Amino acid sequence: MIDGKALAEKVRAEVAAEVAGMGKVGLTTVLVGDDPASHVYINLKQKAAQGVGIDAQDVRLPVETTEDELLALLADLNADDAVDGILVQLPLPDQIDEARAIERIDPVKDVDGIHPYNAGRLYLGRPTLVPATPLGVMRMLAEYEIPLSGARAVVVGRSAIVGKPVAHLLLQQNATVTVCHSRTRDLERHTLEADVLVAAVGRPHMISADMVKPGGTVIDVGLTRTDAGLLGDVDPAAAERAAYLTPVPGGVGPMTIAMVLANTVAAAKSRLANPVR
Ligand code: NAP
Repeated sequence: MIDGKALAEKVRAEVAAEVAGMGKVGLTTVLVGDDPASHVYINLKQKAAQGVGIDAQDVRLPVETTEDELLALLADLNADDAVDGILVQLPLPDQIDEARAIERIDPVKDVDGIHPYNAGRLYLGRPTLVPATPLGVMRMLAEYEIPLSGARAVVVGRSAIVGKPVAHLLLQQNATVTVCHSRTRDLERHTLEADVLVAAVGRPHMISADMVKPGGTVIDVGLTRTDAGLLGDVDPAAAERAAYLTPVPGGVGPMTIAMVLANTVAAAKSRLANPVR
């Protein structure tokens, strides 16, 4: 089992040391509305940020906040030199155009790596801010020294925050990448070939043990809340065939939060290196 919890602690310690060395690093999280899951995520991120010495500001706006009000806040945060990172929790209420809001975040402060400028740089293979979950996946693969160059990697799921960025990062590491999705025919034919399989769908245990290549590495990004608790996309029985498997919970989840912190430090460093934009 790949221990995401222990690795996340290691990343947090690294970030804490960097923050201490830099003096002050500021992160502002913005939550609009009262979606219960979003509140949980923001609380976790706030606590984690404070835990590593990041100056974390917690902005919570009412559900009826207009798009103009949110855009005005983002303009203020962009202009505020004490703010290194801005994180807008998604989803936003219906009256706000999510894409428009994301595009108003200064790309250099976009610690979720979702601004089209950052997505474009990732597509081009240039260094940039990358969404935290894919970054956490890559850090786990690196930490466990999973060979990627020339390996067959299969990503199931093609969302902008997980599937696509993780596919690009694997490609940067010279894996041969296949991206599967809801229209993929004969999914098993692909997954069985995967030296590295990343499942990011959100369908509990849809990857059964017999869909996993013996000796392969399986990263389970899926998280579905059920009466039986939090379930991943991969049947835990896959552990018998896989060389490595990330557990749910305790795998990718803790890494995601840790990588948001790492991204905040990366954003602060990049602002220090390029003070005038
Ligand atoms: P998403 O936007 O809903 O995307 C799901 C993807 O799965 C889509 O590309 C979809 O294909 C594909 N898909 C759906 N049914 C499929 C099927 N039967 N076979 C193959 N592919 C199928 O979800 P997401 O935001 O990427 O999140 C994916 C999962 O990861 C969720 O469970 C989410 O909670 C979890 N997650 C966890 C973390 C973490 O920190 N651990 C972070 C982010 C997300 P189409 O594009 O064709 O519709």
